[in-house]
Amino acid sequence: MSEPMTTTTNSVPKAALITGGSRGIGAACARLFAQQGYGVGIVCRKAKDQAEALAEELAALGVPVKVYVCDVAQREQVQAMTAAFLREFGRIDVLVCNAGIARQELFTDITEASWREVMGVDLDGVFYCAQAVLPDMLHRKAGKIITLSSMWGQVGASCEVAYSTAKAGVIGLTKALAKELGPSGITVNCVAPGVIDTEMNGNLPQDIKDELAEETPLERLGTPEDVAQAVWFLASSAGDFFTGQILAPNGGLII
Ligand code: NDP
Repeated sequence: MSEPMTTTTNSVPKAALITGGSRGIGAACARLFAQQGYGVGIVCRKAKDQAEALAEELAALGVPVKVYVCDVAQREQVQAMTAAFLREFGRIDVLVCNAGIARQELFTDITEASWREVMGVDLDGVFYCAQAVLPDMLHRKAGKIITLSSMWGQVGASCEVAYSTAKAGVIGLTKALAKELGPSGITVNCVAPGVIDTEMNGNLPQDIKDELAEETPLERLGTPEDVAQAVWFLASSAGDFFTGQILAPNGGLII
């Protein structure tokens, strides 16, 4: 899929802000958007070196790329990061709320702190980022917000109650916000991946990964690029009539 127009009428490149862009799915999104001619803001919390190496790689494509260190669970940091992005790029065409953390623990073992941390990053982070970009999008009556949920947000996962709850919340947020923002020309959609081979699943033993691949009708785990293509579809003009929808690159693992 290629987008014919990646520049605005005054030749300013379109700009995408991608949280959790230092690795995994977020990095694949950053690559794809840069390949499509977008200016890209890569947001990370800790992996600054990784994000800067990626930024250097993408800058070679001739697009502006900036790294922002920001904890999306902290509203003030999100506001400062968004303001810095707007100063640099002048506009926010696409927000990809991808930053996320996962926890595997028995429900009875979840501490208050662990619950709050997962909610803070996976759900509050989406709230803070979407709210922060809206003044610019509302002013221009245009924009695309893409959230990352998970198949566990759709069907629930044993030993991942906090994660499943936060990701179900992301789906609720996406649908409600899509209704609110549609008349303002802004779309809000969600990508809910299946099992994707990233560092998030790095602790899974190979035999479990093999079993998951076997259980998947398409007989493999997903790649970050599989997910990035879904995000790109929603961001591109091909996705213009989609809002409030959940696109699920999951190989058929849940149908
Ligand atoms: P990774 O663990 O590989 O990467 C997570 C990214 O999020 C990193 O860039 C990390 O940056 C960033 N991040 C984490 N916490 C924060 C924070 N508080 N503030 C800012 N950035 C943060 O994850 P994936 O690429 O696998 O997952 C990306 C998204 O997709 C997540 O929302 C995840 O829940 C979702 N997803 C993933 C699936 C999978 O199987 N992998 C399946 C379904 C959904 P840093 O290292 O700097 O902290």
